[in-house]
Parts: sequence; C-alpha cells; structure tokens
Amino acid sequence: MAKQWESVIGLEVHLQLKTGTKVWCGCDADYDNASSNTHTCPICLGHPGALPKLNKKVVEYAIKAALALNCKVNNISGFDRKNYFYPDTPKNYQITQFETPYCEKGYLDVKLNSGREITVGITQIQIEEDAGKSIHMGKESLINFNRASMPLLEIISDPDLRSSEEAYEYLNLLKSTIKYTGISDVSMELGSLRCDANISVMEKGSKVFGRRVEVKNLNSFKAVARAIDYEIGRQIEVIDNGGVIDQETRLWDDDNQVTRIMRSKEDAMDYRYFNEPDLQRLVIKDEEIERIKGIMPESKEAKLNRFTTDYALPDYDANVLTDEVELADYFEEVVKYTKNPKLSSNWVMTEVLRELKETGKTIEESPVKAEDLGKIINLIQKDVISSKIAKKLFTIKMTDERDPEVIVKEEGMVQVVDLEAIEAIVDQVLGENPKMVEDFKNSDEGRKPRVLKGLIGQVMKLSKGKANPTIVTELMESKLK
Ligand SMILES: [Zn+2]
Repeated sequence: MAKQWESVIGLEVHLQLKTGTKVWCGCDADYDNASSNTHTCPICLGHPGALPKLNKKVVEYAIKAALALNCKVNNISGFDRKNYFYPDTPKNYQITQFETPYCEKGYLDVKLNSGREITVGITQIQIEEDAGKSIHMGKESLINFNRASMPLLEIISDPDLRSSEEAYEYLNLLKSTIKYTGISDVSMELGSLRCDANISVMEKGSKVFGRRVEVKNLNSFKAVARAIDYEIGRQIEVIDNGGVIDQETRLWDDDNQVTRIMRSKEDAMDYRYFNEPDLQRLVIKDEEIERIKGIMPESKEAKLNRFTTDYALPDYDANVLTDEVELADYFEEVVKYTKNPKLSSNWVMTEVLRELKETGKTIEESPVKAEDLGKIINLIQKDVISSKIAKKLFTIKMTDERDPEVIVKEEGMVQVVDLEAIEAIVDQVLGENPKMVEDFKNSDEGRKPRVLKGLIGQVMKLSKGKANPTIVTELMESKLK
C-alpha cells in the first residue's frame, strides 16, 4: 500500500513599514517616484564610521504588529549583524534581530472555507532592514539604494500549516489584520509584503519533520498556494523513488508552475551572526506597551461587532464590509450621508463591489466617492429617482465627473410622481393590451400577480423607468379591480 504523507509548512512574511523615514537614518522612505539613489545618506549607504540610530516610529509600529498578532513583547531585545556579501547590501551585513527578537509567541485563529478553525502560532517577529535593489540588464547590472535600510518586520510562523489552503487563508488574515493597524500597505504588488515558504513532508502520524525546502520568489498569495502544492508533490515523488530531500532554497517559476533550485541552503552559522555593536539594546517599558494599546486603531473584530450592533446589520453584511478596512470606512462615510445603514450596505455590497471587480479598481480608486453614493441613495429615499434609475445613474457616475444631482437634472432622470401623467400611461397600456386584461380577470389568485407584474412592466417601459413604481402599482391594481 502506498505511504500516506503529511505536509508541514511555515511561512516567513516580510512587511515594509510606512514610517515616513528609514529605520536607521532620516532618509525619506517615500521613494517610489524618486530618481535612483537620491534617498540615501552615509548611514544607509554604509559609509565607514556612519552610525545607525533606531527610528522611534519603527518601534511603535512594531509594537502595534505584536499586539495585533497576540504576541508577547519583550522588555529587552537586541540587534544582530547577519553577514553576507551582496551588491545591493552596502554594509555587507544586514542588521536584524536574531538572538533576542522584540516579540514572540503570538498566534492567529484562522477560519477556513469549510468552517473549521485552526490556530497558527507566530514564533517571533523581528525588526530589520531592507536591502537595495539590483536591476539586471543583459551584461550590466544597476543598483538603486533608495530601498536600502527601509524598515521591515519579519513575521515567522510556527510550522503549523498543513496545506496550501491553510497557508492561503493564514496569509489573507495576516494581511487584513495588519492593514487594520495602519502600519503597512501590505501590498504584494508594491513589494511592501513578501512571503517565503518553508515546506517539508513526513509520513502521516510521524512526530519528526522531514527536511525542509525554502521557496522564494512568490509574487501573490495564489502563487504561494500553487508553489506549496507543487513542492509537496515533488518531495513525495523524490522520496517514493528512493531519493532524499536536500535542504535547499528554490525559486518559484510562475510561468512554468514549477520550483527550481537556487542554492543549497545556508545554515545560520554561515551568516556569522554577532551582536550589533553600533546599537544599544532595545528597551520597551510596560508603560509604552500600554500607551500603544490605547492608540491602536479599531481591530477588525471590534468593527464587525460594532457594525452588527450600532448599524443593526446582518452578520453576512458586517463580514463582507469589514473584510478590508478601506471598504468599511467607505461604508461608514456613505451612512453619514444616508442615515440608512441597511440600504447603504446593499448598495456597497452589490453595485460598488461589482463595479470594482469589473474595473479591477480598489475602493480608494473608485470614481464613485462615498459622498456620490450617499447622494444617489438619498435621491431614492426622497423619491426623486427609482432604484432602477439609480443603478443607471451609478453606472453613469463611474465615468462622469458631474455631481449625481446634476446628472439627474441634466439627463431628465427625475421620477414622474404626477398622478395624472402616470394615469394616462396606465390607461394607454390597459387599452393596448386587452388580452392581458382579460387574462388577469380569468386568472386564479396564484397567477394574478404575474400578469399584474407584466402590465406594470409595460408602464415602466413606456415611462422609460421614470414613473414612480408605487403609484403605478396602486393605480394599476385599482383599475383592474
Ligand atoms: Zn539614509
């Protein structure tokens, strides 16, 4: 009988912090549109004699991450040098926290699609610095040091994950949890979130982990999941064929959907870690941890609870709306205008999310701002337009700069509430459709509403969707009787 295998996965996530300045110097950290090597100074270029100085905001942000991920913050921690030569590392070493990280022993409770919940431990988080960027162009390589010494947090999970699905859901939860703290953009596209996966397989029921392979170059959460599945299959095949797994680093090749060997894995010893002599130990007092607890932004969980109680939204709505903090903010802004949480929630969950999906935009990029949507919903609430016209208005607003109220006026979308005008159309429809009227009279109670709906539909069509549906229905019902 074939052997049963179990996979063991641990993830290392790097987060770039939005602190405004770099971790050891005052260089501007907002370098995305800057010319190469302009956001640099002797400290982040590693000039001899230049001394690093820890950015206070980095510590504050790091504590926020620790609290959000249920970690224990250490009162005393220290920095170490990880020595290696690479052209984009100007000092020839990276300052990190190896021996004594600033926090450890955290966890995240991850809900899977099946409804099953798993607890994923967080071994530790360390404060460290980013490297510069090498750009390879044929025979030449260019180096940009703007990213050198950008503040990073490395979040190391326990090897608690057993499948690609678990890894995928853990990453999603980690991302949205951190996003709520406001310390990082956590965007894989922008490079402010990066992930490496440690993967091994062992015989089912075994207590001893197999030798692990580290997979890098993972550009999306989906790529992480695919790389894990590929790697599990590859390792099982190697072992089944009598081979052994080497401890090595592999690169994910997304075009061909395979991992390829990059280098045999270094052991910690290879980096010759030693305490960073240019920095003092990092002391975080309990009062400081308490102070930061007091200024932590509302967590996802707290927001979800508030949405179901304060706005009386169903659990489903609250879950969808709080999935991303920006969407939750957008919704709350809309409610400020409409004072109608449920109607606002319906609009955000259907029209807004559909448009974003179709256009590939984020909520912040949406051409329909919260104020615009608020106005559209208020036009419905004031009976100026019908819901149907409102949807049309929403689509127009996606590409139209004009104010929704102006569009309604200028495009003649205002709802007809004039009784006489509507009655004239109702009479016209009844006169032109004698068969339907006859059908209505001869139908039983079960069929009557369907025929009525058909007649009302004719009226709405003739009025180009502008007749007030309530008035149309009332008139039509009384006339048929
Ligand atoms: Zn600098």
